Amino acid sequence: MLTCIAGGHVIDPANHRDGQGDIWIRDGRIIDKPNNEPGATYDAAGKIVMAGAIDVHSHIAGWNVDTARLLLPEYQSAAARLRAGETSLLTKGWSALETGQLYATMGFTTVVEPAVSPHYALHAHLELVDTPIIDKATLAVLGNDDYLLGLLHDSESEQAIEDYVAWILEMSRSLGIKVVNAGGVAAFKDNVRAFSFDDVVPAFGLTSRRIVKALQRAVSKLGVPHPLHVHCNNLGLAGNFETALTTIAAAEELPLHLAHLQFYGYGKEGNRGFSSAAAQLAEAVNRKANVTIDVGQVMFGSTVTISLDVLRQFNARTQARPKKWLILDGDANGAGIVPYNYRRADFYNAVQWAVGLELFLLINDPWRVFFTTDHPNGAPFTSYPEIFALLMSRDLRAKWISELPAEAMAVTTLPSITREYSLHEIAIMTRAAPAKLLGLTDRGHLGPGAVGDVAVYDNLTDKARMFRAAALVFKDGDLVVRDGQVTHHRFGRALAVAPPRDRAIDRRMKDYYEERYGLSDEFVKVPDYALSRPEPFVFVPCR
Ligand SMILES: [Zn+2]
Repeated sequence: MLTCIAGGHVIDPANHRDGQGDIWIRDGRIIDKPNNEPGATYDAAGKIVMAGAIDVHSHIAGWNVDTARLLLPEYQSAAARLRAGETSLLTKGWSALETGQLYATMGFTTVVEPAVSPHYALHAHLELVDTPIIDKATLAVLGNDDYLLGLLHDSESEQAIEDYVAWILEMSRSLGIKVVNAGGVAAFKDNVRAFSFDDVVPAFGLTSRRIVKALQRAVSKLGVPHPLHVHCNNLGLAGNFETALTTIAAAEELPLHLAHLQFYGYGKEGNRGFSSAAAQLAEAVNRKANVTIDVGQVMFGSTVTISLDVLRQFNARTQARPKKWLILDGDANGAGIVPYNYRRADFYNAVQWAVGLELFLLINDPWRVFFTTDHPNGAPFTSYPEIFALLMSRDLRAKWISELPAEAMAVTTLPSITREYSLHEIAIMTRAAPAKLLGLTDRGHLGPGAVGDVAVYDNLTDKARMFRAAALVFKDGDLVVRDGQVTHHRFGRALAVAPPRDRAIDRRMKDYYEERYGLSDEFVKVPDYALSRPEPFVFVPCR
């Protein structure tokens, strides 16, 4: 079946296109202009045409997300609450069904769930397979697990670590590896309450640095396209920009991705001992071409923080709004669920909001800064359109700034920043660059051979309105959204890597699970049938 999206303004940075033209799709893939074949034509004249957007970090599935749902049943009856005029952002996108639908209506077609404990990967995948329309991938979390820390403690070879990482990637059907407060969560089990990059995990005699470097090297050596995805130590603390700077320096010459850098952009200046250090962080990122970051923008409203950083969540529990929280012990990481309300009138929250925008605007290269709210930690993903609008208009930012505590704005550089993102830069940051970062050569662009994931927007002055409700969205060539409404449900695919490994590790892991847990290693393995509905999963090639 042939589809033509005709006469729109095509913005496709990966293929250096920025002008009027047509996009042709046949059998789910973008093709060059065919010769006089009949097909369906969609008029995109006067509209903006981009590839489907890609979210590199959004907590949309898995046991900790579900635990948050159980903790906050008041947020679950989303449809009824929306009908009743409820405007709380969190009520949108709370179920798997709504997650797929709402991403699609904004023109997003691929989303990465970035925090899956390997032992709970099946749960995450079963939920993702029920999330309609979008393609999805997961990152497996290592770095506080006994097995890896044991390998490092015993000074085993780099090859052994690579084989273990490769085994985890294949068993958990993941696209990459994430590390969460490396060693800090393991140290928390010995009652450690503060843990920095060069602190030592008591039970293993290892520093966070050693764990991060070992994983970074292994991911790189295995040829996994996505660099090690790092949630640094000391999240949320005043003065923690030093931790992020230390971690950036430790990247040395290998690729490294820092997640939700906004939560590490805090200095200790000013009367309250809390200030923005975004400018220093942005400068460090600008200087280091092998480092990429996503922002984790904060927006105002009630939400819930969900994290495997159980040390941090335990310390944050006293700030829960409403006053309930859950800290779960568990293998390797455990999890912490703490509901939170970011308030405009709150000095600290206003600084956090500014730090995120400063990072977006002070990091020069849109290929290395990624668009996230760390959903739902900084804000629900449904707030993306408002953030696009803020990035694209300094007048709009000035209006917001004028309504926020002046004392908070005074400890940031945001009021002095004049940069405005162009649509071209938005397309890089949300399409071309994330595809490159994740190694997904078949998307993020509109060249021949790419998947037929296309978003068409009305070219409105009100950018929030424009990005909230795409005029047309195609997934694999199927029309799924028209005028901001889902018109057709289909199911996406799972994207994973499986780098080669020495199969001797399989025997070792089998013995380990039998001896340690009395379990078959099969329980770690996500079966193929859990990933398909009905399309099979797709392996992303390693380098
Ligand atoms: Zn996160």
